[in-house]
Amino acid sequence: MNHGIGDLTAQAPRTFGKALLYGRRALALLCPTCGKTQLFHPWKNVKSLSSWFTPNDGCPYCGYAFEREPGYFLLAIWGVNYGVVALGGMALYFVLRYWTEWSPQLIFCLTVLPAPLLSILLARHAKSFFLAMDHFCDPHVRHKRKRENIE
Ligand SMILES: [Zn+2]
Repeated sequence: MNHGIGDLTAQAPRTFGKALLYGRRALALLCPTCGKTQLFHPWKNVKSLSSWFTPNDGCPYCGYAFEREPGYFLLAIWGVNYGVVALGGMALYFVLRYWTEWSPQLIFCLTVLPAPLLSILLARHAKSFFLAMDHFCDPHVRHKRKRENIE
């Protein structure tokens, strides 16, 4: 039986090393608990926007449920994804305004027009980092106890 691996890491104390580990797994779009399986379908198998945005149900290796409840990733999209794209675009706008002689209209187009595409491209990583951050701050280990009761 290989269940419990994720639960053991979740129960260990929160350390900077663990935060880095979860961050690396989030960057690679891997299960935050065990780091063995992908959160999403490979990009080659994506056939629609829905399959691009939707994570897998859970990790087949450690049993970690990626979406804890309906609407779980709402904060990931609105807080993390929109925040990074909007704040990044605003910061780039002001940097270009300060350091270049370009017209404000050109700078506006350069910083605002790519935002929707960037939002789509970064949505998976926003969800992945949100999941890793949530797992770091509030690991749910109840799943293991439920499974032990069933077995
Ligand atoms: Zn896993």
